[in-house]
Amino acid sequence: MSERRTAVVTGGGSGIGRSISLRLAEDGFAVAVLDLNEESAAQVADEIGRKGHEAVAFGGVDVSDRARVDEAVEEVRKVLGGPVSVLVNNAGVARTEGFLKITDEWWDRIMAVNLSGPFYFCQAVVPDMKEAGWGRIVNISSSSAQSGQPYMTHYVASKAGLIGFTKALALELGPSGITVNTIPPGFVDTPMLRASEQRGLLGGSVDHHAELTPVRRPGRPEDIAAACSFLVSEEAGYVTGQVIGVNGGRNT
Ligand code: NAP
Repeated sequence: MSERRTAVVTGGGSGIGRSISLRLAEDGFAVAVLDLNEESAAQVADEIGRKGHEAVAFGGVDVSDRARVDEAVEEVRKVLGGPVSVLVNNAGVARTEGFLKITDEWWDRIMAVNLSGPFYFCQAVVPDMKEAGWGRIVNISSSSAQSGQPYMTHYVASKAGLIGFTKALALELGPSGITVNTIPPGFVDTPMLRASEQRGLLGGSVDHHAELTPVRRPGRPEDIAAACSFLVSEEAGYVTGQVIGVNGGRNT
């Protein structure tokens, strides 16, 4: 394994991605905080820097743009000074609408961000990992792909695709010392969840759903970050191709 470990976190400017960025920096990784949103990526990198850890923001990176992804990964190598050894594909978009109302544009957009984005990023960083003989990839999917979720057919299909992608890639990359796992979060208190609550799309408030959750609280972004921290660690080398649910018992 290379001495200096660089971790790339997509969608690192908000919610779950922000917590994963903070946690991996605390774990000793030099973190590339990538996001479409320049301001939020910069804020998270600053926050990490103020805590005495290392992070650089890469804003304006749309994960669905292959050329931009390749360019961003090249910038990460230059700025952080080494190959990428950890990739967390976290950026995602969600929409709620009846099946017959889904337009081709939204179907394509959701697939492009949630499924093609991880494909582009994996192709961009796997050569570094193969050369090092070590790598860790974590894909953030969704518990909705395990349970199904009405009015989210496009989103659920994209996340189910990401679970299949994870399993297939894990088998192919295992011999190269690279693990690939997925965390399907469920009901985590982030700006994405609160936006759904505000728009009346949750079928009840966050508090109401917390009551129905076996552990009686919504998930925290830190819950996902903790699982991710383990999956990218040295000691998780025998864990690959797995779906590690972090959902308060909502899906078992
Ligand atoms: P969030 O707060 O909305 O954060 C998502 C981040 O991804 C935002 O910073 C967003 O930037 C960025 N992003 C969106 N599209 C992008 C693109 N094309 N390229 C690069 N960055 C992009 O959401 P979250 O709840 O933390 O979700 C993180 C991941 O967990 C997502 O993949 C989501 O599907 C998954 N997830 C969340 C939950 C939950 O309960 N919260 C449950 C299941 C799965 P902008 O601010 O510019 O949009």
